[in-house]
Amino acid sequence: MLAAMDLPVAVPAQRNPVGAHVPVAGRGLVGTGLAYAARVGAEAVQVFVANPRGWATPPGNPRHDEDFRTACAELGIPAYVHAPYLINFGSESAVTRERSAESLRHSLHRAHAIGALGVVVHTGSALCGPRSAALAHVRSHVLPLLDELGAFGAGAPQLLLEPTAGQGSSLCGRMSDLADYTDALDGHPLVGVCLDTCHAFAAGHDLAAPGGTAAMLAELTDAVGPGRLKLVHANDSEDVLGARKDRHANIGAGHIGADAFGELLAHPDTAGVPLIIETPDGRHDPDRVEGARHGQDIRRLKELRAAAGAPALTGVPA
Ligand SMILES: [Zn+2]
Repeated sequence: MLAAMDLPVAVPAQRNPVGAHVPVAGRGLVGTGLAYAARVGAEAVQVFVANPRGWATPPGNPRHDEDFRTACAELGIPAYVHAPYLINFGSESAVTRERSAESLRHSLHRAHAIGALGVVVHTGSALCGPRSAALAHVRSHVLPLLDELGAFGAGAPQLLLEPTAGQGSSLCGRMSDLADYTDALDGHPLVGVCLDTCHAFAAGHDLAAPGGTAAMLAELTDAVGPGRLKLVHANDSEDVLGARKDRHANIGAGHIGADAFGELLAHPDTAGVPLIIETPDGRHDPDRVEGARHGQDIRRLKELRAAAGAPALTGVPA
């Protein structure tokens, strides 16, 4: 068992828990993942449950799963799983589409085992032909997985669609692109949205302009209806507006700027939605201190949250 000092300190529930994607290699979900969360001050966590650049579907460790579930529940830390990057239901390869379904099924089942609230999956690209053909594959592979989740009852994780930076033939970049994507899934109640600020900026949403965040959130509600936004990936952008490049920067150090995150944290549509940073950790800095830059990003977002003046919540995010 871990010493208490290796775990995050329980905090009162916040309007927007602020956390990070945490590593789990080595000592596992609690020993590595929650210890990292403690070091950087994370109030929410996201993890991989498989190699993000592979198709393997490892079984997990039931004891680690239970320890993680229990610790997150006791500390009030919402947890999320990020599915592997290779998943693409719009692939031209039938084998890749099948593997995508197996990989996503694995992430959903592992998410349930560790008590995660949702699984983030990139919306993919139409490489198999026109958009309509890709969305037909999305429907035929993903709807059965959503129906399977019914067996988990109230503890079923949600599937969180993450629009990408709008590169090439990507299926969703702009928020409006989510409309026919969620329609292809019959607007299933377990479908939510994970909004990545860097991706949205890259796809042309001008978050750096005053009111840009509100305009993007309005377009999202217009596309999928209210209440679908369940998670934010809070990342600044190395590249300029509309660059269609996916290079994350530390909060306030990119072209989006800190003010946009303040706007996001004050907007009614983000009430109860956790923020997860996926920012650079200075891996190549010679004088790097592990977690220092992530800790700084989280502190910055907490300051912006305090400045936004939102009261703490009394419940856990739904
Ligand atoms: Zn992201």
